[in-house]
Order: sequence, then C-alpha cells, then structure tokens
Amino acid sequence: MDVKTIDDVDVAGKRVLVRADLNVPLKDGRVADETRIVATLPTVRKLIGDGARVIICSHLGRPKGEVRPELSLRPVAAVLSEKLGRDVAFVETCVGAEAEEAANRLARGDVLLLENTRFRPGETENDPSFAKGLAALADVFVDDAFGTAHRKHASNYGVAEVVKPAVAGYLLAKEIQYFDQLLKNPPRPLVFVLGGAKLSTKLAVVTNMLATVDHFLIGGGMAYTFLKAQGYNVGSSLVEDDFLADAKNVLAEAGDKVELPGDHVIAKAPDEPASARAVDCPSIPEGYMGVDIGSETVQRFTAGTVGAGAIFWNGPMGVFEVAAFADGTEAVARAIAESGAVTVAGGGETVQAARQFGVAERLSHISTGGGASLKYLEGKPLAAIEILDRK
Ligand code: ADP
Ligand code: MG
Repeated sequence: MDVKTIDDVDVAGKRVLVRADLNVPLKDGRVADETRIVATLPTVRKLIGDGARVIICSHLGRPKGEVRPELSLRPVAAVLSEKLGRDVAFVETCVGAEAEEAANRLARGDVLLLENTRFRPGETENDPSFAKGLAALADVFVDDAFGTAHRKHASNYGVAEVVKPAVAGYLLAKEIQYFDQLLKNPPRPLVFVLGGAKLSTKLAVVTNMLATVDHFLIGGGMAYTFLKAQGYNVGSSLVEDDFLADAKNVLAEAGDKVELPGDHVIAKAPDEPASARAVDCPSIPEGYMGVDIGSETVQRFTAGTVGAGAIFWNGPMGVFEVAAFADGTEAVARAIAESGAVTVAGGGETVQAARQFGVAERLSHISTGGGASLKYLEGKPLAAIEILDRK
C-alpha cells in the first residue's frame, strides 16, 4: 500500500502525536507484559532521533468513557522511560489546557505520554470536538496502532482528519506490508492454516481469500461445522448450525483446496482430559467432542506447510490450553516455523500458542491486531489506515 510513513515527513522541532497501542495488561498497578510497549519503540526512537517533540496517546482496557484510576497509563510511562533511557513525562489528561501546556513545554527529543484516551466518551464515539482537542496538541500525526485500525475512533481517525501530515509509524507500516503481500502478491503456494473456536468469525476471510489461497488447512473448532456440512456425525463438537449452508458453499466452491481433519482426539468435554481418546475417522461418537486434530491429520497438515511460499496462521488446531489436547497445535506451529515460507500469525490465542510452543521468534511477522488482521484479509478497508496520507 502507498501509505506515507514517518520516513516520508520532516518532524524536526515539530510536535508529533503518536497514536500507539499501549493497551498492556496491568497487575497490581504494574505492567504485566511489555510486548506492546516494546513493539512501538522503533517508531518512538526514530522520532526522537529526528528531533521531534513526541506526544504519545493510547487507550488501555475498557473504561467506557469514565476515569478509572486502575486503567491509568501512568505505569506505562515508567516502562517507556526505562526502555528509552530518558524521562517520559506524563499528564493525567489527554486534551485541554494542561495537556497543551505539557506538549508545548517539550524540547526536541522529549517524550510525553497522555492519559488513557478512553477515559473520555468522545474517543470511541469519534466525537469531533474531542478529536480537535487532540489535534490541538500536534503538528504531525503518526498512527502506530494496528489493533484498533478497524475502528473509527477520535484518536486514530477523527484526529487524522484534522492534523496533516498524518502518516503510519513503523509498526503499522509493517502490518500493512505483510497483509498487503498476502492479499496482493503472495509468494506461492499460499497456505492458510485456520482453526480456533468459531467459523462465523473467520468465514468472511475464507470467502474473500478463496480465489487467492492455494491451500486451506482447517482444524480447531471451526472444522466441525464443515464436517457436519459434509454429513459426518460430529457428536457434541463445537458446531454453528447457522453456518452449515455457508460451509457447504465454501466446500463446493473450493473443491480440493480445503483440507479438513480426517481423525481426531475426542473427549467428553474440554475440561475432562481423562476421557480423551483417539478416533481414526472423521466421525465422532455421541457424547464426545473433537478437541484436537488426530495424528494422521497432523501429518497431512504439517506436510501441507512444506514448500509453501507464504503461510498465514490464525487459530489453534485444538484446545491447546489443556496439555492433553495441545499436540496438534504444537506440531502445526513448529511446521509453520520450520517451513522457510513467509509466515504471518494473527489472533489472540494463536499468538499465545506461538509463544507457548516457542516458535514466535521464528515467524516472519506476528500481527498485533487479531480483529484488524481478519478484517484486512476480508478485503475490507480499515478506517484508520484509509485516512492516512498517500505517497
Ligand atoms: P484466535 O484468538 O487466535 O483468533 P479463536 O479466538 O478463534 O483464536 O479461538 C481460540 C480458541 O479456540 C482457543 O481458546 C481454543 O481452546 C479453542 N478451540 C480450538 N479448537 C477447539 C475445539 N476443537 N473445540 C473447542 N474449542 C476449540
Ligand atoms: Mg481469540
């Protein structure tokens, strides 16, 4: 995509408002996982290096437009300071006189963090007056938050309507680069490994990518709606009956592009690992549900990653949170990492699984946005990216 980035603008001496994704988990008033903070450092360092006066904003959690002290971004300022090796100032608001004074006080290379944008109802409502309040702080707008890019909020959309230039930071630019490649010119063969809980959340991706993807390997809970649509007994497996017709249509259109599990690990319930056993056919007996792909399917799916040019992975192959049902996800995760293909993973539990099985570092790109990455692959424009300047 031809979106302008921080490499295309002159920021020296300018007040640059960065919409970062600092939506980190907090525990006892401290940052419990620094991943998102670390992910935005390249953008912040580049701006500091170029002599910008850097103002960072983000949301954290779901305070629903109210000030909730336990969702303050203050603890994030401390971690940012430590990582950047310089003081990061913090203001307890994100618009108004106090924020403007703090922004105007910044010297070149200084960094200021604003309070949680979602303490204001205007944020998620994309209220123009709140957006103008943010815009008053900045000469340049930089969006580096992919996780919210599919949402039209004041801090990623409204503000970009007012502040120009409005460009992408390095993190957002990297997301755009990888997803654009998957959509438009993927190294082939292009393989999509899909799983997770529900077909309904991923059906639009399958439909949109049907013509582009060479091979779908479908496991996890969503596979059972397909298997039921094919006429197999699936016992008490996760099935979305409202989507059986869609599943049938996909299978009819996709022909042999779609591979489904041919055997399973089954159990009476996800929390009853003692009841687990293997079945070496697609059908599942009454009273049991499919909780992981079986060993033949593991072999077929891992073989399906060999020689791939690019692989997109979204969704675990089974209930990987339970050790007894994690083998399929682990084996497929390792195969993806070892494939030598351009590998992109997205989705909350998918990223969690990639970390758990120690393959995260070996993937080309781990998306920071689950919902946003799916929306991208549905072929839908992401509002906050659309509003940015073009080259
Ligand atoms: P992601 O967050 O990566 O997009 P999802 O939210 O779609 O993934 O699904 C993740 C969840 O799917 C996991 O918590 C996992 O336990 C569950 N899951 C995977 N396979 C099955 C299955 N066969 N039956 C029930 N749940 C499953
Ligand atoms: Mg999830």
